[in-house]
Amino acid sequence: MAGRKHKLATALARMFVGGDREAKEVSAIMTRMLVSKAHEWGEPIGEAAADLIAGIVLEWHRNGTCPVCKGHGFRTVAGDLGESRAVIGSQPCRACRGRRVRNFDPLFPVERIGLARWLRDKVERETALAGPAAMRALSLDL
Ligand SMILES: [Zn+2]
Repeated sequence: MAGRKHKLATALARMFVGGDREAKEVSAIMTRMLVSKAHEWGEPIGEAAADLIAGIVLEWHRNGTCPVCKGHGFRTVAGDLGESRAVIGSQPCRACRGRRVRNFDPLFPVERIGLARWLRDKVERETALAGPAAMRALSLDL
């Protein structure tokens, strides 16, 4: 698990502990991953376009909860007291269709959806590794 493969997980771990500054590092790593994957697929992408996609994928990952149902996945109505939402029945949320997260695909140009999905899956897998990596990174810093 050492070396290049672990780099994104480590950066993600730092981002969870830190914040926006670390997110820039994560975004830079993701951009490089996109450029090389797109090249591998024979659909080259420029650095600037890759950077845009990486930024959107990362933002979705950090803040992907469906804004309509607030992540409940079901249809909700606004409560009497401001922010609270009440779930009504078992109808899936119309905005996210019950998936609890914002629609991903429409955020990207059609020809780049495959690439964006690949990156999202990659980030999700690496995030699972980021927990233990965060512990290691923190203990190295002490
Ligand atoms: Zn929803």
